[in-house]
Amino acid sequence: MQYQSTRNHATVVSSSEAIVRGLTPDGGLFVPQAFPAADLEGWKNLRYPDLAAKVLELYLTDYAPEFLRRAAHEAYGEAFGGKAGQVQKVADGLFSLELWHGPTSAFKDYALQLMPKLLVQAKKNLNRTEHTRILVATSGDTGKAALAGYAGLEGIDIAVFYPNDGTSEIQRLQMATQTGDNVAVYAVQGNFDDAQTGVKKVFGDADVAEQLAARDIRLSSANSINWGRLAPQIVYYFYAYFRLAEQGAVEWGKPVDFCVPTGNFGDILAGYYAKRMGLPVGRLVCASNRNNVLTDFIRTGVYDKRREFYKTTSPSMDILISSNLERLLYHVTGDDAKVARWMQELSTTGVYKVDDTTLAAIRESFDCGCAGDDEAADQIHTCFTEDHYLCDPHTAVAFRVAGQCRTDAPMVVLSTASPFKFPRDVLAALGEAVPDSDFAAMKALTASTGCEAPKALAALETLPVRFDTVIAPEDIRAAALK
Ligand SMILES: *Cc1c(COP(=O)(O)O)cnc(C)c1O
Repeated sequence: MQYQSTRNHATVVSSSEAIVRGLTPDGGLFVPQAFPAADLEGWKNLRYPDLAAKVLELYLTDYAPEFLRRAAHEAYGEAFGGKAGQVQKVADGLFSLELWHGPTSAFKDYALQLMPKLLVQAKKNLNRTEHTRILVATSGDTGKAALAGYAGLEGIDIAVFYPNDGTSEIQRLQMATQTGDNVAVYAVQGNFDDAQTGVKKVFGDADVAEQLAARDIRLSSANSINWGRLAPQIVYYFYAYFRLAEQGAVEWGKPVDFCVPTGNFGDILAGYYAKRMGLPVGRLVCASNRNNVLTDFIRTGVYDKRREFYKTTSPSMDILISSNLERLLYHVTGDDAKVARWMQELSTTGVYKVDDTTLAAIRESFDCGCAGDDEAADQIHTCFTEDHYLCDPHTAVAFRVAGQCRTDAPMVVLSTASPFKFPRDVLAALGEAVPDSDFAAMKALTASTGCEAPKALAALETLPVRFDTVIAPEDIRAAALK
């Protein structure tokens, strides 16, 4: 399988190249040149890690299948406690695909437990010997998932920058207690934008690049536009479908709908790949919070980021530019010049409009909806009181939207975070008293619902803090040069 740029079909590279490079030279994203065919009959009884290896083999054709099998077992075996791809029935015809049973209790573990291994191997495949330094600006989940994925790998180190007053107590401790010799964590004075702007500046700083190059170090990012982060997410759509078929919840070959709490459009796009590979996917429902730029786009064909940005109780979906949408635009149009033009318009004017044919092609597979914080809180309450199912605010947005977009097909909601990562918001939604500390809130949540907190989250209270350095945004550069 070869990969090309969404903005120029003449740029063609191998999967290893695509993963090492991240972005294409023209600022576009790498996309596979074809959709490989799934072997549904052959795959339906595989365990999660074996299924992951089969799916990845079709896309990462310059990796040895044996390597992929080993990497998938390391990533999705013990680390997920046997619960990779776990599907929970919530009500008749309604299911939750619980993607938070990984080491950091975030769905990003699916990508970030595997992608670091893919990067190390890609460098070997390409005979590259330089040291890679990963810089991450994070508002929470990505930082910990990336630290956990890159910790201890050879030829790579990682520095994570989070806003001093922008994460929850749990998220901060998840990062501050990270073990490993090749990791560093910094709190940056200010909000997420301050941290992100600081890191972006370092990436664009030619002098930094030169100083690091002299030491044979190359900067790289762990963000979600890398093909190595997207590909692993295709797997759980297949796995969930097979579990529904196994339980008799769907007749083999008949469609299943998926509703996905969406931010950067990576998770839901993986479902589109699964569909194009032959999985019977009905509707892919794009669920947004109050930052509903995607809802408007899928309804009208106009993508307009010129709007107010809201902070919500589902922070990982607080995004105005959903980068991975560019891949979908390429796949439905097959027209690199058109995609390049729209992306140019987005960056210069903040808005673009797709033609009716393109919008119709998108709407053939996608539906959409949005829910505000109050509706999400109400949904947490409803899910628990009616179905005794406890979910976090991100997942609640998706349950709300799923309810508005039901067809005759069974519906699978992708559950992207453990409710215990947001114990205070969840308690409030349930109408319970909310204690000041996250840990007291976790315990109160268990007491009132009978649900257990993931062990790794509960254990944070007593783990030694390794990183407590607070730096100014202008010191990010020095930290990156360490
Ligand atoms: C990252 C994230 C999302 C959004 O996923 P995208 O691939 O960016 O659309 C949703 N929920 C949670 C909890 C996340 O961490």
